[in-house]
Amino acid sequence: MKQVVSGDQLTSHKDLGQGWNYGDYKFYGHSLAGIRTSLTMPDLKICFDVSQGYPFSLTMQNYFITHGHLDHAAGIPYIISQKMMSAHETPDFYMPSSLVKPMTDIMDLWSSIEGFPYRYRFLPITGDEDIEIGKQFLVKPFPTTHRIESFGYTLFEKKKKLKTSLANASQDDIIAARRRGEDVNEITLTPVVSVTGDTQIEFLESRPWVKHSKILFLEATYLDDVRTVEQARQWGHTHINELIPRLPEIHSEQIVIIHSSSRYSNDHAMDLLRRKIPAQYHDRIVLFPGR
Ligand SMILES: [Zn+2]
Ligand SMILES: [Zn+2]
Repeated sequence: MKQVVSGDQLTSHKDLGQGWNYGDYKFYGHSLAGIRTSLTMPDLKICFDVSQGYPFSLTMQNYFITHGHLDHAAGIPYIISQKMMSAHETPDFYMPSSLVKPMTDIMDLWSSIEGFPYRYRFLPITGDEDIEIGKQFLVKPFPTTHRIESFGYTLFEKKKKLKTSLANASQDDIIAARRRGEDVNEITLTPVVSVTGDTQIEFLESRPWVKHSKILFLEATYLDDVRTVEQARQWGHTHINELIPRLPEIHSEQIVIIHSSSRYSNDHAMDLLRRKIPAQYHDRIVLFPGR
């Protein structure tokens, strides 16, 4: 089992967030229940939730907001305002559709307070949209279960491969098909990264690909028995005791726990996870802390 700690793998600095990578996928961010949650993939310029708008998230282009609670979304006005000071492209913020109107009202107020106009796009999501990220990737939102409208997001990698119907065709047949102007390729989508915001464990059933994402960031707010499963559910969160029996059905190579409660120090959280989670899963579990 692994804990992302200061100085681990990539750089670590409060403003940069904690760095962690798995294969070619690099992440910077932080996540602590009720305090701050934001996760960036700088190579793709994408960001899932924005905390209070920390410097590591300012240079992203596409922002995916899981829900409107302040520990996830308070940074939206700050990021937009900061981008107006420099020559950034207009940023896109994808968010639950119920959030667009109130956030637009907030932006109008901040704009009048600051005395200059803002450039941004708020794009409502309802689930299952295909949001293209360059030529190689796309993001799809999936609904989650929280106290207010909420979504998780999955990053898919797109690969072109020969159509399955042509798998047994000869080289000559394929060349002939191409000459006739037929498209001999099809696009395959591989779920590489899924990220939940705050949600009850039901998100696992939201869409079939979630449990098959190569890297799954999921919230587990409560890690001990001081709080019960019922209390976690009452607040729209996941308790580690609900997650453990579900581990056999999660095919992710890495399961990254975010949004643990601030009542646990990093070491205490690791200790709880080590004791609770069966040893056979330890090398697939990562704790992504928010400190
Ligand atoms: Zn939260
Ligand atoms: Zn929340």
